[in-house]
Amino acid sequence: MQAVIDALAGELTGITVLRDAAELTRLSRDFYWFSPVLKALLDDKRADLVAVPASQDEVARVVAACARAGVPLTPRGLGSGNYGQAMPLAGGVVLDLSRLNRVLWVQPGAARAEAGARLSEIDTEARKSGWEQRMLPSTFRGSTVGGFYCGGGVGIGSNNYGMLKDPGNILGVKALSMEATPRTVEFRGRDAVDLHHAYGVNGIVLEVELALAPALPWIEFVASFADFNDAVAFAQALGEADGIAKKGISAHQWPLPRSYRPLKDVVVAGESVVMTQVAAYNEAAFAEQVAGAGGRITYRNDPRAPGARRLTLQEFMWNHATLHAIREAEAAGAAPGMEGGITYLQLGYPAGRNLELVRRIDALFGEEVVQHVEFIRVKGAVTCSGLPIVRWRGEPRLREVMRLLEAEGVYIADPHTWVVEDGGKKSINPRHVELKAAMDPAGLLNPGKLRAWQERGVAQKKSVFWDS
Ligand SMILES: Cc1cc2nc3c(=O)[nH]c(=O)nc-3n(C[C@H](O)[C@H](O)[C@H](O)COP(=O)(O)OP(=O)(O)OC[C@H]3O[C@@H](n4cnc5c(N)ncnc54)[C@H](O)[C@@H]3O)c2cc1C
Repeated sequence: MQAVIDALAGELTGITVLRDAAELTRLSRDFYWFSPVLKALLDDKRADLVAVPASQDEVARVVAACARAGVPLTPRGLGSGNYGQAMPLAGGVVLDLSRLNRVLWVQPGAARAEAGARLSEIDTEARKSGWEQRMLPSTFRGSTVGGFYCGGGVGIGSNNYGMLKDPGNILGVKALSMEATPRTVEFRGRDAVDLHHAYGVNGIVLEVELALAPALPWIEFVASFADFNDAVAFAQALGEADGIAKKGISAHQWPLPRSYRPLKDVVVAGESVVMTQVAAYNEAAFAEQVAGAGGRITYRNDPRAPGARRLTLQEFMWNHATLHAIREAEAAGAAPGMEGGITYLQLGYPAGRNLELVRRIDALFGEEVVQHVEFIRVKGAVTCSGLPIVRWRGEPRLREVMRLLEAEGVYIADPHTWVVEDGGKKSINPRHVELKAAMDPAGLLNPGKLRAWQERGVAQKKSVFWDS
């Protein structure tokens, strides 16, 4: 392998390549370590070379060279994904796309950017003409649009626009095939979700075109509630309050807010919180809703006002809540996987049953599972996703907790696996395996992540048609 990599590096003159061991380790990792299960299995995975192309032509040169030499290639944005998505299980080349970062255009209601453009940068550009992104992962500050499209899929704003894969959110994608003579293919309409949340196994994404939302003057609020169930009921009602414009609604059960050190003057000991952003002109209506639900506002931050706090509540939502909790546990001497440490799950609650399920989880697990729910719109109905913090009592107990949750009718997107089908996707549309055969005939892209590819033929017959 070393001789092949040396020859490859020789072919890539003019393109930045990294071969320093520490750099290779750093750029071969993502947030897999949130999972003690993955941490134990993936710690030693490392690329043999990292290529950092600065243009689409340079990307094509790296891809062509790898395809000719039969070297595996794993695309990478910021590396903020979970589940070892961006980790090169078979070594080879990591393709760092962070320099492919131009925002190509913003038009009324839509924007197009190169895959390595940061989501925060796209938002900054869109806001210049009165638009903003419909949804953002809580890692929006540094994560890339290509990484969000290929690895993520939901976020702050999903209470209005659903999931990224929902029709109308992704408008187009330009991808490159993994071949000795790479082809570019533009996917539009329904086809534009074909490469979504596939960890880059069926094409290297070069550009993403997204629908935008009108930019609103958001004010951030924390509302505090003595009882977590009251907090969740309020969050649900806020989600359903069609006249109040809001972006992101998350409810956090005590003692989780204790982990949010930058908010220590905001959280009330023993109380659960709801975090949200509300349009400035709806502040009064929002305050009435909070009071009516028995809560009180303990934090208000208007980022445009003089003296505004620089932190944003968006970095306490979604999986950032997990990050704060893990950091707090680490500070107390319990890293993930250690006695007293914590981990997490990703849950989906059927609309109409979510409030009941939140109560049921409390009754079943008590302090073993501390709840954190994010509100989303699913086919028009408001429900929530759960990212609960789970006390680490070993993998067998974690799997048992998952089985018990499933028995209650909770959907689980397992964050303790790197296999696409075992995580959020559950089944693969046979079209996607065909797409991989066309875009990556030698199976060199991010190998080991797509079971249906490894077991093709058998898996295609078993698969349920993935309907979006
Ligand atoms: C604290 C924390 C909070 C998070 N919050 C959210 C959230 O709110 N919502 C959410 O959806 N996710 C969330 N995530 C997951 C992740 O941050 C997002 O999905 C993010 O958008 C990934 O972007 P990235 O640039 O870091 O991608 P990476 O991690 O670099 O890549 C993600 C996957 O996409 C592939 N990939 C990257 N770029 C390309 C490309 N151009 N072509 C082909 N394949 C590519 C990689 O191989 C990998 O499989 C969170 C993660 C953490 C650690």
